[in-house]
Amino acid sequence: MGTEHNIFSIVQQQLDEAAAILELDHATHQMLRQPQRELHVSLPVRMDDGSTKVFSGYRVQYNDARGPAKGGLRFHPDETIDTVRALAAWMTWKTAVVNVPLGGGKGGVVCSPKELSPAELERLSRAYVRQVGRIIGPSKDVPAPDVYTNPQVMAWMMDELSAMRGYNEFGAITGKPIPIGGSAGRSDATARGGMYTVREAASVLGISLAGGTAAIQGYGNAGSFAHKLAEELLGLRVVAVSDSSGGVFSDKGIGVESASEHKQTFGSVAGLPNTSPITNESLLELDVDVLIPAALESVITSSNAGSIKASIVAELANGPTTPSADKILHDKGTYLIPDLLCNAGGVTVSYFEMVQNSYGYYWSEDMVHERLDAKITDAFHQVHNASKEYGVNHRVAAYLVSVSRVAEAMRLRGWVS
Ligand code: NAD
Repeated sequence: MGTEHNIFSIVQQQLDEAAAILELDHATHQMLRQPQRELHVSLPVRMDDGSTKVFSGYRVQYNDARGPAKGGLRFHPDETIDTVRALAAWMTWKTAVVNVPLGGGKGGVVCSPKELSPAELERLSRAYVRQVGRIIGPSKDVPAPDVYTNPQVMAWMMDELSAMRGYNEFGAITGKPIPIGGSAGRSDATARGGMYTVREAASVLGISLAGGTAAIQGYGNAGSFAHKLAEELLGLRVVAVSDSSGGVFSDKGIGVESASEHKQTFGSVAGLPNTSPITNESLLELDVDVLIPAALESVITSSNAGSIKASIVAELANGPTTPSADKILHDKGTYLIPDLLCNAGGVTVSYFEMVQNSYGYYWSEDMVHERLDAKITDAFHQVHNASKEYGVNHRVAAYLVSVSRVAEAMRLRGWVS
């Protein structure tokens, strides 16, 4: 695999660029180029047909200098240790950019969740916790949902961990259902935080988004809520949406309810009535005001970046743009809101969930929205200002803000001098 698509190499390249600007000393730079610790696990799971299948899983604690490691758990057939390392590194920068007192971690299990029955999925989720339970906990490392994991998976994992500990360990897993320690406002937090950053980008660009257009790639937690909130909060008309089975386009706009219902019934947005089909590749190149990649990594590369027409690219997915594509977009004046910042709403509300779990007193949805808005808006302007001050693109600027915070924590703790 070339370095343009190996996402851990991409993470290291992005860090190297920031380290050079910040003139980080060698030891600090080396610490930040590799995970602090990682666990590789084998998970024997009893399948419905009576056989036992062994799955591979990982948990990477990239850096916990600023607080417990924090990051999602992904169930995906293409999961690799390098993907998990990259995502764990991004979590480290993300918690630092929004300035919540957490480090970065990530987990993954190599599996095809769509081929598992609910009972098999439950047994797999519990098996994962039995293996990683020894290194997770509210003051160690706190998993959350990511691609193909959801509040139900979090509920099973929290229950298994609680059984292992002998008491309710609500604060060890976030993204739980509300009746068992979840936070109001967590389900749409990633998309909501992203829409707040799009609002701020439009404001610094001096453009109005009301009546403008958007295209969204990926129609899971991040993408489907982005559809709803792009309409509700920004007045955008969403003209194209897609998922792993294909996409749909309508110049008149795609209704969020009809798209969600279609996805619920048929497992995909593809084939939605009164729309025309569009490929995932063409969706990215549509002439829209806001492009929202909300699926997987490395979809905007040196091959298609020149054809991206959106004025704002809001990276709800982690790592959708490669470094060479970054340069192309920056040179042509696209306002890219980097993943670290754009999708940090999820981890911010996960942090709020941990806080609420720790004192057992829960906030209203309005309070969550207000506090999320304050955190994200503040982070947006710190990144925007760093970009102006150092004359760098927004991704490098986000790294400058976050890497300097993690480096300072390591220095204050005496890990490096
Ligand atoms: P999800 O599992 O809920 O949804 C993923 C969506 O992407 C699905 O609609 C799937 O069909 C689609 N998809 C998968 N492969 C695709 C492909 N090749 N082309 C087009 N679409 C494809 O996952 P999610 O939680 O919405 O996560 C999506 C992205 O957002 C990931 O990069 C994830 O790391 C990131 N993210 C999620 C959260 C969160 O809170 N859920 C937080 C931060 C970042």
